Amino acid sequence: MGPHENRWLITGGAGFIGSNLAADLLRAGAPVTVLDDLSSGQMRNIDRLGEYGDLFRFVRANVLDGGAAASALEGADVLVNLAAQVSVARSIARPDETLLINDRGFRTVSALALDMGVRRIVFASSAAVYGENPVQPLTEQSGRQPQSPYAESKVANEAAAAEMADRYPDLSVTGLRFFNIYGPNQAATGGYAAVIPAWLAAAEAGVSPVIFGDGGQTRDLCHVSDVVAVIRAVVRAARPGASVYNVGSGTSVTLLELLETINKLGRQVGCVLPPPLFERPRAGDIRYSSCDIAALMRDIGWRPRVSLEEGLRALVMDCVGRRASR
Ligand code: NAD
Repeated sequence: MGPHENRWLITGGAGFIGSNLAADLLRAGAPVTVLDDLSSGQMRNIDRLGEYGDLFRFVRANVLDGGAAASALEGADVLVNLAAQVSVARSIARPDETLLINDRGFRTVSALALDMGVRRIVFASSAAVYGENPVQPLTEQSGRQPQSPYAESKVANEAAAAEMADRYPDLSVTGLRFFNIYGPNQAATGGYAAVIPAWLAAAEAGVSPVIFGDGGQTRDLCHVSDVVAVIRAVVRAARPGASVYNVGSGTSVTLLELLETINKLGRQVGCVLPPPLFERPRAGDIRYSSCDIAALMRDIGWRPRVSLEEGLRALVMDCVGRRASR
């Protein structure tokens, strides 16, 4: 079935990953509803989607609001659950809130979806489920050691998915353990900003980028357009049962290497970051994170297409453009 024959509900669709997915689906002609309470997402991420007219619907609501979720689910064939309280630090400060939104929220919207006949569900899990695991790269069989309420909420999502698959044998429910995703629409401000947008914001403002720790920690950085392709491929494959997959680029770099790559690209356009400021590591941050993507490539036939340098180049150019127009 082509994407245009499915109606998609994307929770958290005004956020970074969700807004990129919504735009891509609408471009392909698929009807999309976004349900989002705009707690960390931004209206500006989805403003332009209004140009798709009736194909696009936005429901501003909390995933815990069953009435709103049921109305957003009307006619849906596919549910993509991305809504979440996404900050590890905030989850440590407010564990109950994180579990309510991430665990109860997913259970609420997916139970309604199942009642309403949806049989394809994709949800955001996270590499955080692995915690501090010395055996790298991480495969789906690596032990899960959640080290924050955020990570626990993602483990709970995977358990909920397994329960759903037991009850509905015709259901395809897939958890995607995202590693570090980057690309357009990623929040650059606030205490929870991910490393690339935070550093590009520093470049734009001409201030030092902050490195928490010594910069030797590794991250697998995957471009959001590759993630969008994964979600679409998983839905197309619709393998029955509950599965989980790592989603990353399959290559990891240290933060110091990442900074050097940004500076290399920046030098080509006359924009170099001041020397970094090193601060204490943050609670809940993990040191090593390398992603094995063999299972996803084998089962879904997907492979990442955007190299780190290519993905960063477009973001650095945007940043230079914004700096020039300040
Ligand atoms: P994001 O913060 O940009 O998107 C999350 C969206 O969910 C936001 O638009 C927010 O407003 C919305 N939301 C939060 N609570 C809600 C609620 N109660 N009801 C309705 N909407 C709500 O983050 P993102 O990076 O796009 O992340 C999407 C998903 O992927 C999240 O589940 C996140 O945990 C997961 N993830 C992301 C990464 C990454 O590198 N970006 C890595 C691992 C996992």
